[in-house]
Amino acid sequence: MGKIHVLDKSVSNKIAAGEVVSRPASAVKELIENSLDAGAKSITVEIKNGGIGYIRVTDDGSGIEEDDILTAFLPHATSKIHTAEDLYAIGTYGFRGEALASIASVSKLELITKTADAEMGVKISVEGGEYGESECIGAKTGTTITVKELFYNTPARFKFLKKDSAETAAVTDVCQKAALSRPDVSFKYIASGKEVFFTPGDGVLLNAIFAVFGKDFAKNMMPLSYENEGVKVEGFIGSAAVARPNRNMQIFFVNGRSVVSRIMSFALSESYKNQLTVGKFPATVLNVEIANDKVDVNVHPSKTEVKFIDEKEIYDGIYWGCKNTLYEKPYVPSVTASNERTPDVKIAPEKVESVKERVFIPSVKPETPFKPVIKEEVKAEEKKTGFTKIEPVKATDEKITYAAEPSVKYDLTPKTEVKEETGKEELQQEMEIPKEADVRVIGQVFETYILAESEGEMLIIDQHAAHERLNYEELKKRREKNEAESQMLMIPEMVSLSPSEMAVWEDNKEFFESIGFETEAMGEKDIMVRCVPTGTEDGDIKDTVIEMLDILSDSRHDKRTFLEERAMYSVSCKSAIKANRSLSVQEQKDLVVRVLALPGINTCPHGRPLCIKLTKDKIEKEFRRI
Ligand code: ADP
Ligand code: MG
Repeated sequence: MGKIHVLDKSVSNKIAAGEVVSRPASAVKELIENSLDAGAKSITVEIKNGGIGYIRVTDDGSGIEEDDILTAFLPHATSKIHTAEDLYAIGTYGFRGEALASIASVSKLELITKTADAEMGVKISVEGGEYGESECIGAKTGTTITVKELFYNTPARFKFLKKDSAETAAVTDVCQKAALSRPDVSFKYIASGKEVFFTPGDGVLLNAIFAVFGKDFAKNMMPLSYENEGVKVEGFIGSAAVARPNRNMQIFFVNGRSVVSRIMSFALSESYKNQLTVGKFPATVLNVEIANDKVDVNVHPSKTEVKFIDEKEIYDGIYWGCKNTLYEKPYVPSVTASNERTPDVKIAPEKVESVKERVFIPSVKPETPFKPVIKEEVKAEEKKTGFTKIEPVKATDEKITYAAEPSVKYDLTPKTEVKEETGKEELQQEMEIPKEADVRVIGQVFETYILAESEGEMLIIDQHAAHERLNYEELKKRREKNEAESQMLMIPEMVSLSPSEMAVWEDNKEFFESIGFETEAMGEKDIMVRCVPTGTEDGDIKDTVIEMLDILSDSRHDKRTFLEERAMYSVSCKSAIKANRSLSVQEQKDLVVRVLALPGINTCPHGRPLCIKLTKDKIEKEFRRI
């Protein structure tokens, strides 16, 4: 018997399903796109257990005619194209006719649909690709598809699914992008029984941003509308107040489709140069309209990386579009503004006030006139060295003196007090700390390093790295002993989170508590921070929390302890003395004494050395004394 045979239909569908539907989020994406293609004006997405257990997408679109229902589930069954030529004039989201067949082959699916002409709706179940009986049912015009137990019959796929929270985050991402790409459609998204967002569907992008990301975001977004040589860029870009430690809040669309594009991200970053601190990324919701033949249409279902025929055109469009917005006069949107420059920012009455608060003043004055400057030479140099060129600072004779003591006092005294009962153990620890007499602090150089002498060695200690390490060790110790130390904030700080950040916070509430944070949800989009670990600086709380959530959301690492450690580095770093800060002699001494007591640790938590030692021998050799 020959060995080659044609795969059974159900097997080939399962294989195809792996390509189209790799996780709940991709199933949700396909279902939403079908609803949009059916002309829906309102779409509700509901998921449970990250969508693995349950997905339901309801729309008020055209519905499927009864005679077409079974065909819709066949592979390559589509109502959207008929011939290969049609492929080049795609005006719809889906056209491969694979999604329904794929999803149905790896789940327990139920479809209820009714067209406007039909009197009754039809309900049909499909389990692992096998149809059940169809029945007549009362229904509204539109379609509801319920997908249960995704991948129940493909264990290999199932195994690759991540934790529910990670899958939820991916679905949330898909729903957010859909809602932002189509402000004219009302989206409601419910995850694990909670309404995450509900957009009005009034065609106003800022209102969709408000619904999806909350008030704090919406009021810090600036409208952008720019057109040049066939490239039209429109949307909103964020002020520094809503910048993020990663690119997750950079949402790009090309002709209304969500994409990932290196050139677009790069242009955006370049336009924000000098406006944001290093490691911060602007938030954006931007759509680029461009002729279809200038985009490399990627028909692969799961890829979103887009290629442009002319990258410079796209770069310029984004770069100059952003620059113009960033350097514009302080912008106060009018309620029904609709002129050439600004997109229609009609805002629902109750939201007007909050958006009016926004006044954006750029920190850097515009270099006039705006013309693209391509710094070829600098770029080449940067490539060679791998470093950004920094202009040397001219030395001056001027001495910098502080008018007053720096406002933040750092508590650098060792925290190992002798307790009565546990005296023995604590005492032992105390004895490891070298006595002050063993170390002689010489002083501070460049307001960044502390010079000291100890046992025939000269020490150069990086004050920030050292303090960061001490904070980390302290935090870790307190956590292990279940003795987190908190300080209450004078004014509790409200932190606005995106739905995915909110989900990560929910998952990590206990961790936050275990290191001394007291946080509490205030509605769906904000958390209130009431207490922080002792030693955390006031100004950085929002940043610290968001950065920690960013670290904890990293789904590439399954090791919780690893992520928690990194989140603790972040707290330690934020609360550590910065470089370029003058320290009193006592502060220097305390820091040095404590650092030298660290058993065998000579790096900051991030791995940078915290102390360089020069032995007397080495110095004498340098001076050729020996
Ligand atoms: P494609 O979207 O690529 O055509 P799908 O497998 O996703 O393929 O869907 C197959 C067909 O089923 C679609 O072409 C459309 O006619 C119909 N269909 C699917 N979902 C819906 C919906 N929500 N409303 C109306 N028709 C739908
Ligand atoms: Mg489709």
